[in-house]
Amino acid sequence: MTLRYRGRFAPSPTGPLHFGSLVAALASYLQAKAQGGEWLVRIEDIDPPREAAGASDDILRTLEALGFEWDGEIVYQSRRTEAYRAALDRLQTGGALYGCACTRKEISDSSVQGIEGPVYPGTCRAGPAPGRSARALRVHTAGALIEFDDRWQGAIRRDLETEFGDFVVRRADGLFAYQLAVTVDDAAQGISEVVRGADLLESTPRQIHLQNLLGLATPGYAHLPVAVNAQGEKLSKQTAATPVTTKNPLPVLLQALAFLDQAPPAGLGNLGEFWSWAIGNWRPERVSTTRSIVVSVT
Ligand code: GLU
Repeated sequence: MTLRYRGRFAPSPTGPLHFGSLVAALASYLQAKAQGGEWLVRIEDIDPPREAAGASDDILRTLEALGFEWDGEIVYQSRRTEAYRAALDRLQTGGALYGCACTRKEISDSSVQGIEGPVYPGTCRAGPAPGRSARALRVHTAGALIEFDDRWQGAIRRDLETEFGDFVVRRADGLFAYQLAVTVDDAAQGISEVVRGADLLESTPRQIHLQNLLGLATPGYAHLPVAVNAQGEKLSKQTAATPVTTKNPLPVLLQALAFLDQAPPAGLGNLGEFWSWAIGNWRPERVSTTRSIVVSVT
């Protein structure tokens, strides 16, 4: 049996769709559609403090206006708490978790810097100090050496304990951590390949670790270069990236296609022509294998 390709686009509704997320949407879409596969959309609304009112609908309307067609129902992470709780229970039963009482300040004062911030020094591994109570839940990483082969970023090998440390799966504010929610959802949705920005490359080893602990299959991974401004900052709401306009969508779609190093002929005159060329001529091997590309569109 050949498994059908299934990809996804998983925006966080922190603001309108901007150029950087359009590139991730487009690459994941073309990668799926060029193989006759499915493309799912998942709204990652598990972090209410970071969300902007109306952003989910706005992103979906923009995708629609640009001519993206998703398969199946949209999944909202805010409605998936039962599944995340079940995964936490399973990790807890397997002895993979411990409660952590440390504050952010205590951790930054006592740790070495890792690939993405301080490496948790394991202070609460044997239980919080007397008189302190657990705030967050962390997962053990001792001995976890994670290797995977990324379609664009090549062979990646990370030692989780020394490069990241035991990481949080349920936050001190009670919210489920991104790493847990994404792992559970990619598996539940049967995603065969995750195509996303290389700003998430360093999250992948943690997600594979959780897959291993939960007995879930590991999908393929393909991390695209991220669009950055001249200062090297990711184009996002924080860097005031202009939202993608839906009034005249062809130029921005062509810009996103150029970012992916595809070479469309001059004169694609409407959305129909754009999509049939882009899907029919998608060449993933042309995509740059760098981690970021400076763009002048903002
Ligand atoms: N929701 C994440 C973001 O918008 C992407 C998660 C993912 O693709 O795994 O940055």
